[in-house]
Amino acid sequence: MKKIVMLLTGCLSLVATTITSAAGAAPLYPNSVVSNDHEFIATSDESAFACLVFEGRRTAEMPDKRSDQLMAKKTFIFTAHYTDGTSVGLWAHPKFKTEAKALESVAPAAEAVGKLPTFMRRTLDHVVIHRGDETAFGEGEGHFFVLYSENIKTRIRNHDLEETVFHESVHATLDSKYAGSKTWLKAQKADGDYITKYAKRLPKKEDMAESALFAWTMIMHPGRLSADVEARAREIMPNRMAFFEELFLARPVFEETSRKPAC
Ligand SMILES: [Zn+2]
Repeated sequence: MKKIVMLLTGCLSLVATTITSAAGAAPLYPNSVVSNDHEFIATSDESAFACLVFEGRRTAEMPDKRSDQLMAKKTFIFTAHYTDGTSVGLWAHPKFKTEAKALESVAPAAEAVGKLPTFMRRTLDHVVIHRGDETAFGEGEGHFFVLYSENIKTRIRNHDLEETVFHESVHATLDSKYAGSKTWLKAQKADGDYITKYAKRLPKKEDMAESALFAWTMIMHPGRLSADVEARAREIMPNRMAFFEELFLARPVFEETSRKPAC
């Protein structure tokens, strides 16, 4: 498809062949997480997850894209503890009815959060989990993101839950600090094009989260994506790659801590 477009717009077939694999063919996919089969984050990747503690039930803010009702009484409150001393709240809506039912969604989310680097997990405050089937969303100022139980199941089935959690965690932990920063906007402008159509459509809102997933995998697991995809991503966003190299390589993925997980 991309090759045909290039052939139509290129003057010489030689030129067309040369630029087929270049940034001219960007964006690579409709979106980062569900429109390709890349295993950006593998089930076998190291996780800092240590344990989950049930803290009881209380009233909590449970934003839901289907409703304006913000507060939910008797929310199931869990805390996930990690080996680097970080902890993250996991709040499951009262409609889960039982702690056991809530855990079916809470546990995989807590494990996926364990694959984030320490500096992101430290900023992530909590995860809101609803029953039902809607796509996830993240909130930059409040440092949280929202998941839905049926969508969690689908994402697990398609090996996409860790990727979803990473994408939403970028919204929850990096957007407010970096997405409007001069350094990021300069890199975005210098690169010119976007890694996915979703990022291109919503550059202020989605570009950082979309780009970060590709960058994370290429920086931490070089060779995991195909050589072709890596080369094209580097052509599309060399300046953004440099931004993420600085950010992700500034410290160890899992930082040493004197605080031991409280479990
Ligand atoms: Zn997003």
